[in-house]
Order: sequence, then structure tokens, then C-alpha cells
Amino acid sequence: MTKSQAETELKALREEIETHNHNYYVLAQPTISDYEFDKLLERLIEIESQFPDLVTPDSPSQRVGGTVTKIFPTVVHKERMMSLSNTYSPEELREFVKRVQKELNAEGLTEAEFACELKFDGVAVSLIYRDGLFVQGATRGDGTTGDDITPNLKTIPTIPLRLKSPNDERAQVLLKGEIEVRGEVFMLKEDFETLNAQSEKQFANPRNATAGTLKQQDSREVAKRKLTFTAYFLSSDLLSDTVSHWERLRLLELLGFNVSPHRTLATKIEEIDSFLNEWEEKRDRLPFDIDGAVIKLNSIRQQNLLGATSKAPRWAIAYKFSARQAETRLRDVTYQVGRVGTVTPVAELEPVFLAGSTISRSTLHNFDEIARLELHVGDFVVLEKSGDVIPKVVRAVIEKRPIDAKPILPPTHCPSCQTPLINPEGEVNLYCPNEDHCPAQIQGRILHYASRNAMDIENLGEAVVEQLLKEGLIGDVGDIYSIEKQRLISLERFGEKSAQNLLEAIESSKLRPLERLLFGLGIRHVGLATARILARKFTSIDDLASASLEALEQTEEVGATIAKSVHDYFRKPSTLLLIEKLKRAGVNMKGEKSETIENAHFSGKSVVFTGTLESLTREKASEEVLKRGGKVSGSISKKTDYVVAGSEAGSKLEKAKKLGVRILSEAEFLSLLSP
Ligand SMILES: [Zn+2]
Repeated sequence: MTKSQAETELKALREEIETHNHNYYVLAQPTISDYEFDKLLERLIEIESQFPDLVTPDSPSQRVGGTVTKIFPTVVHKERMMSLSNTYSPEELREFVKRVQKELNAEGLTEAEFACELKFDGVAVSLIYRDGLFVQGATRGDGTTGDDITPNLKTIPTIPLRLKSPNDERAQVLLKGEIEVRGEVFMLKEDFETLNAQSEKQFANPRNATAGTLKQQDSREVAKRKLTFTAYFLSSDLLSDTVSHWERLRLLELLGFNVSPHRTLATKIEEIDSFLNEWEEKRDRLPFDIDGAVIKLNSIRQQNLLGATSKAPRWAIAYKFSARQAETRLRDVTYQVGRVGTVTPVAELEPVFLAGSTISRSTLHNFDEIARLELHVGDFVVLEKSGDVIPKVVRAVIEKRPIDAKPILPPTHCPSCQTPLINPEGEVNLYCPNEDHCPAQIQGRILHYASRNAMDIENLGEAVVEQLLKEGLIGDVGDIYSIEKQRLISLERFGEKSAQNLLEAIESSKLRPLERLLFGLGIRHVGLATARILARKFTSIDDLASASLEALEQTEEVGATIAKSVHDYFRKPSTLLLIEKLKRAGVNMKGEKSETIENAHFSGKSVVFTGTLESLTREKASEEVLKRGGKVSGSISKKTDYVVAGSEAGSKLEKAKKLGVRILSEAEFLSLLSP
């Protein structure tokens, strides 16, 4: 390939990739598969690595990250980033509207028009574009100066690296010169939950996770977390002040930004009220957190006329939704023991209805929290549901405390195995040290092993694991592979079919990639991302188990703490016994490098087999699906992508037809394996 050929292809690839990015993230209307998208990106990176001087700052390859910043440079904001004055009171909101109207009337202006928008619960940032190119992004900081976090922001797919060039005269003007775009970086609730499930560090809420992510020094880490951006402010010397805020939002859309569609224009207070009421009620159904709404004067000229106080603009107000609270009684405090032995106090409450559901339990996190709240058993407590999904106890109603209320003392023994608890220095938590025999820890480990991001064993949920442990069918993770079908059927709640489904799900977990196994083992400090890195570097579990501390420490992105934890884990006799058991059961212990076949038909798809296949066994067929990045499941649901029907297919086939799942014959299945 000559340099000029490379240049031509790169240009076409960049445009194509950014178009697909926009279709996917902003319009939510992808036109190609993830697989095809990855192929385009791979091709781009391949050519760029051959011709490094052809890499441009707006190349989609920049989204992968790679810049490490030790200290973020300081940026002076061109225009101060003021925070808005806010209120929880509808009366104050009314006063704000009246005051604005009065001041405009005094200037001889008639009616004030207000733009009503949602207030995203994320982190505000400012983006500078010069001649259509994203050149600098910064945090709000103290409003006057912020941190330059450009490399981190570049990884967010909804932040255009180059503005779109729309067929609109006013938007065209903005492509030549400098513009500033402000908006909110946030994390979808779903992505937040996945992040918390995958990492040991737990964030309190999506805003917290977003703020923590934007401060990462390594932009590759930011690229891995799923952040998104919505724009709500556009300023430029290229725009006249006759262009209203509402028109600016439209321009932002044309330039390729994500702008929230949940907005309205209002002139009457009743219209503003109805917008607020609508979203206060619907907020839980949004895929992201909001904490209120923002009401802004729409005319920029009028905004300038009203100006600002030293703290906040006088033409806008944030209306915050009140936190939803309920009062109930603390009946008792119980203790949960997690898979690593952490003892967590749980508030047992008199059931109370709050924001759409009945609450009877709530975590109290640790003893510092109980002390901070000065909780007593028997207290009336206030439960609050704010942005977070899970309600929590925010205070005790001390004035209502009954005479017989009892102070809460930390437990001295494990509630599950009665072993004396320990409190390691510098930690707030109590631990049960009996890791090999504590039933609660064993149960926690098995549930973790079977969880979706680990070995993904459907049907092996909390109730089933508890039953299997109680009946003595299993004693640790390794035992699940030797459960006998007849014993299972003899248990209460198990029938022929449910037993078969569970065993099939357990069977298919044997073929999961090494990284899932490593994560599933629950080694301290080894989250999914670390497990992936280890599985790539070490070709098998034996290779990893025998690795020296030095070799572990030298692994990219593995620090001393993780290295020591992994090293210690593989030197415990109980670990060696467990690994031996899993090996004998035939669980995959080989690394990534083993065999993976790229195939868009199966990548990320869920497949169910039914009936008898002629040309290959079901195990072999499952293996072929897994190798192609798919998933094999024992039962059909709406999430199933294909049902492969062999001869004498039974009720599963009926169910597939009912749910409208695509049914493949054996021949069709085989032809999709080799596209
Ligand atoms: Zn215990």
C-alpha cells in the first residue's frame, strides 16, 4: 500500500466509522453489526500503525485511549461555568418566573419564554471545538478554572471528535472558528450496575462512578467504562444573540451532538408545572439518573439583559425533585456474610411503601455507618430514595426513640459459622476468617462462580444453591459438576425437566473462557478486567498458578496488591484441591490463545439446542458456538437468538415458535458455522 492509497482509505474509513458511531450512540439506529464495526476499526488501526504520521486528532482510533496523564493541566474557562441556583420549593419557582417576567416588563419586553429541560445527574464539562475539530475538554472545577481532561473525553463515543457538516447555513458558520459546547457526562444505570458487578471497588451511584472515571489517569481505563454525553449549551462569537437557546439546541443536534429530546418551551407557570410533574413521576423509568429540571429564559438577548449575581445567573433556576422519604421502624439488625467473609449489617424494617415498592430490608454497609446514624433497635428511622436505585436509612428519629430501644453492638461471632470475627487494622469491616468452612462464604462463592459475568450458569440461583448445600449435594464450587440427576430429582421443587435444565447449564459452563473462570474463582482484587489480562498473558491456569510474584508484578496493569493476592491464592491447599476437582470435571483451563473463530452469526448470541443432531454431538455443537463467541443455554426465553432443532425436537420447539425465536435446522446451523 502506498502512502497516498493509505491516506484515501483512512479518510473513507474515518467517515464511515464516525457515521456508524453516530447512528449507534446518538440516533440509536445502528445499520451494521458490532462485528462489522469492529472490523472497520481494526482495519483503521492497522493502516494507522503502518503510517503513524497519518494519524489525525479526530481519528476514531483516538477513542480507544492510551494517553496517561499524571497531573491534569489547568484550563481557564472562557466564560465562567456558573452553577445554577436551585430550589426544592414550587413557590420559589413561581417567584423566579414572576421576577423574570417583571424585570422584562420593566425593560418594555412583553412575554418571557422558558426552556424546560431535564437536569442530568452527572458531571458538567466544557468542550472547545476549533474549525470543527474537538481540541480541548475540561471539568467545571471552581467555575473559573477546571482540569483539562481532553484524552479522557475523547474516548466517549457521544462526543464528536469532528463536527458533522450539516446542510444548514447557520450550522455551517460554526465549522469555521471557535465554539464552546457544554453538557453533562453521565453513566446509564445499566452500565453502572454492570461496572459495580464487575469490579471490587463499589461506587455509590452513577454520578459517583462518572466522576471517578473522568479522573482516571489512564484514558484506556476511561474507554472501558461506558460514559455518555448530552449537550445543553452552545456559545460562540460566531453566533448572534438573536439565536435563542432553543435554536442552539437544534444546532447542537445538527452538529452531531446528543441533545435530550425531553424538553419543552413554556410561557405559563402551569406549563412549567406540568413538565415538572410529568418527569418527577417518570424519572424512575429513564435509563439514567436525573435529579430535577432546569428552567432557562429562552432568549439569549434577554439572558444577557438579566445578567448574573456573583454566584449564579439570574435567568435560570434548577428545580430539584424532593428525595422520596418514608418513616418506618427498625425491628432488628441482622448480619450477612459475603463471599470474602465481610460481615455486613442489614436493617430489618417494618415493611413500608416507598417510591413504587415495599421495603423491608436495607443495607447499613458497616459499623461506622451505624455509629454515625446513632441507630438503636426499635428506633423510628427515615428511609430515603434519592438518585440511587436502592433506598437507604438516612437518620434515626431520635425524639421518637422508645424507652426500650437497644443500642447496637457489633457481633463478636460469625452468624453463619460462629467463628470469632476479626477486624483488620485500618478497615471498617468485620471479617469471618473461616474462609474454607464458613457456609455463608461458600454459598457466596458458588453464587459468584455461577453469576452472569463469571461462569454464567442459569438456574443456579440463591434458593437452589442454598438447597443444594443444605441437602449436602455440594460442599464447594467444584462439586457442582458431580451432581447426580437422580439425587436432584429426589429433591423438593425439582422435576425431571428442571433437573435436566440445571445440569445442562452446568455442563455448558465447562467451556467458558479462562478469564471467566479466573473471575469466577473470586480471587481478591481480581475483577473481570484483571481476569482478562491474566488470561491473555498466562496460557493456562497451571501457568498462572506457578507464576512467580515477580512475573505477576511485571504483568501490564497488575500492581503489587493484585500480584500478591493472586500469588497467595494459588498457594493455598484449598485452592489446589479445588482446581484439581474442576480439572477432573473437564472445566476449560486454557487461555484465550486456544481457539476463537470470528463469526458474526454467533458472536454475542444465545443458542438453545433441542432434539438429536445427526452429524455431531450436542457437546461438540455447543463448543462450536462458544468458540464463536456465542452462549449456549438450556432453556428458551425471549433473549434466545436461535433454537437449533434436531430430530424429535420436543416442547422447546413449540415454545420457540410461540416466542418467535428463530429456528434453525441442523443444516442451517452448520452452514452458519462457516460463513
Ligand atoms: Zn463464618
